[in-house]
Amino acid sequence: MPVLEVENLKTYFYTLRGIVKAVDNVSFTVERGEIMGLAGESGCGKSTVAWSLLGLVPPPGRIVDGSIRIDGMDITRMSEAEIRRKIRWSKISMVFQGAMNALSPVHRVGDQIIEPLLIHKGMEKSEAYSIAEDLVQQVGLPPEILKRYPHELSGGQKQRIVIAMALIMEPDIIIADEPTTALDVIVQGQIINLLKSISKKKGISIIIISHDLSVIAEMADKVAIMYAGKIVEYGPSEKIFKEPQHPYTQLLLRAIPRLHGVKEKLIYIPGSPPDLRNPPRGCRFHPRCPYVMDVCRVEEPPLFQVGHQHYSACWLNKESGVAATKALEEAKA
Ligand code: SF4
Repeated sequence: MPVLEVENLKTYFYTLRGIVKAVDNVSFTVERGEIMGLAGESGCGKSTVAWSLLGLVPPPGRIVDGSIRIDGMDITRMSEAEIRRKIRWSKISMVFQGAMNALSPVHRVGDQIIEPLLIHKGMEKSEAYSIAEDLVQQVGLPPEILKRYPHELSGGQKQRIVIAMALIMEPDIIIADEPTTALDVIVQGQIINLLKSISKKKGISIIIISHDLSVIAEMADKVAIMYAGKIVEYGPSEKIFKEPQHPYTQLLLRAIPRLHGVKEKLIYIPGSPPDLRNPPRGCRFHPRCPYVMDVCRVEEPPLFQVGHQHYSACWLNKESGVAATKALEEAKA
């Protein structure tokens, strides 16, 4: 059974200027020990998916439909107190974007790491500290670092501390939201390797959220590409990067520089993502798509199955695949 099953998730923000459909009918699963990458341009809904999974969607946003089953428990049916007691940090935790902002500047990092153990497990401080000492060593830091304040640490050390915080309650899933942003390339590589080895050694599933496709390519077993609140392509990492099917994925990949073997000219995607209060009719990518057809302007494409566990929401894939929903129904029957 997957450790996480998200089905038809809709998270909307009810603003004075209209309803922002930040996440609109998103479905995916994550297996135990699997690393899934969630990629797309800024504002495509990646971080809102993360907030939804933790039950932490800030007002005026809320989950309006769908289900999120973590270890079989649907958190959309739970009260905030239940989520806090049974799910957040113990089943699913998060490495927040920007380690500098995730740590309190006025508390020693050790006190910040052990806080969930004191609150949720009622542990004595000395016992919690010895767990934290062990944990910081696992993320490559000396135990003495627990006595320091955040301003006494480098960017890479802070990021490791934030990863240790996410691990302290031994969760099944960690969401890493842009975990390498603002780090230099050497430290980026170290953090990527650290997350990969944590997943492998402890069997923890990781959802890595990034606008940087090279980070996703380096880490993920499978990838979901989001555009304007929807998943437009979903499948094994190798397929997404070597044989992308959706025009948006193809263009995104052609917009990143590569060092070896690719002779294609670098391009950019013209236009900008749509206003999610009033997204375009039909395919949301149609105003920017070089292959747009009449049907794209009026009818939204479903996810078509284009390969083994590989799906693409584009009318161009209609001939090459079966509608994913139909394929899944057939598989269930
Ligand atoms: Fe382009 Fe049409 Fe495919 Fe959308 S459905 S990505 S507009 S070809």
